[in-house]
Amino acid sequence: MVGAGAIGAACALELTRRGADVLVLEQGADWAAGCSWGNAGLICPSHAGPYATRADIGRAVRWLLRSDSPLGIRPLPQLVPFLTRLLAETRPGRAVRVLEVSRDMCLRSLEMHRRLVADGLDTGFQQAGLLDVYETEDGFERGRAAASAHRDRGLTLRVLDADEVRDAEPALGPSAVGGVLFRDEAFADPLKYVRAVAAAAEARGARLLAGAEVLDLERIANGVRLTTTAGTVEATTVVVAAGAWSGRLAGALGRPVPLQGGKGYTVDLAADGRPPLRRPCMLQESRVAITPLEGRLRMAGTMQFAGLDERIQRPRLDGVQAASRRMLPAWADAPVVSMWAGLRPCSPDGLPYVGWLHPGRVLLATGHAMLGLTLAPLTGTQVANLLDGVALPEAAALDPGRFRRSLVAR
Ligand SMILES: Cc1cc2nc3c(=O)[nH]c(=O)nc-3n(C[C@H](O)[C@H](O)[C@H](O)COP(=O)(O)OP(=O)(O)OC[C@H]3O[C@@H](n4cnc5c(N)ncnc54)[C@H](O)[C@@H]3O)c2cc1C
Repeated sequence: MVGAGAIGAACALELTRRGADVLVLEQGADWAAGCSWGNAGLICPSHAGPYATRADIGRAVRWLLRSDSPLGIRPLPQLVPFLTRLLAETRPGRAVRVLEVSRDMCLRSLEMHRRLVADGLDTGFQQAGLLDVYETEDGFERGRAAASAHRDRGLTLRVLDADEVRDAEPALGPSAVGGVLFRDEAFADPLKYVRAVAAAAEARGARLLAGAEVLDLERIANGVRLTTTAGTVEATTVVVAAGAWSGRLAGALGRPVPLQGGKGYTVDLAADGRPPLRRPCMLQESRVAITPLEGRLRMAGTMQFAGLDERIQRPRLDGVQAASRRMLPAWADAPVVSMWAGLRPCSPDGLPYVGWLHPGRVLLATGHAMLGLTLAPLTGTQVANLLDGVALPEAAALDPGRFRRSLVAR
């Protein structure tokens, strides 16, 4: 396995459960050194789907003009083919298909998160619901339309007016005009999740080799040889779960996939006795998630395409903080505990890549974008099924070669 994030940990657990001998190679110092460290923790079928639909494009263009907005694109040549594909994925029929596959997988994975808790893992999981909050009438109208589509697909939800929003979440200030409460959604503490799943995998024999960056992979007679900064390793089968960095390794194997880092930011505030949130809230206009964690409140947001650059850009972080502090007056002066930026592994359609790069030898499990924590348990099962020779019902939608295929079809 390459990569010790949420996806690597989930795969390691499921593979060891089925009796495999698993070695996890990680360039960082420990589990969760990458994007899985500081995400918002939402386990959220209601947020499944593509990055955008055609209707969102005008708003996205306006966001691009502001340095503190939820969307940023650095003008890098390598982003042009990726963003061209991403735009093509917003066409109506395609966006609906992506939404259906994504939502179905999120619902199945939510159930698996629940089962982990029943198995005794402390992932910080709470099925407390998710509240989408709207600050404008236009936004609320769009939210009601989306809610009705979600309800048709079986999600349990309730549309709330401004007073009901404040009854549901007394910590919210006066600017909320309405909301949608998804009762069955959940959240976890992302770091606790990775550590608990990793510990369960290690208890079944998985080993972590930290500080081992995989520089190259080559197929050999009986498997794969990996050249790492900690020496050479040979394996029968390799699962590449290296997050936003996976594209380099797929390219080294002659199987390039379109994958870019989508940078997001989180800021943690110390609770210090302030009124807690009962459940995570998603500020829809500013695209900021606010999650109650132990003794802290985590604010998370922005999607910035800037290659593999993990540096924090202050205006983006300020944008995340400003939205949260505006909506939560009692938290406006709360001390900052930590600031963080992470790279979401993003495919052009927002669906992960889970499938073989070289049948029987190298499997890819990445591209989970905004849903990596949500989908981790399901991905672990999908990877283990593929290794057991079991075909996935959603194989075509997740195929790492799907963009090569679609280019040939044109
Ligand atoms: C601000 C923000 C908020 C988010 N909120 C949510 C949320 O609420 N819910 C949700 O479901 N998802 C959320 N996400 C997305 C989620 O965090 C990611 O999808 C998920 O963490 C990806 O997990 P991963 O294991 O694929 O990647 P990572 O966690 O990045 O793990 C990949 C690992 O591979 C290692 N690696 C890379 N290259 C090599 C190499 N060559 N050799 C060895 N090791 C290597 C890296 O060091 C890293 O540890 C959010 C993301 C961000 C940025």
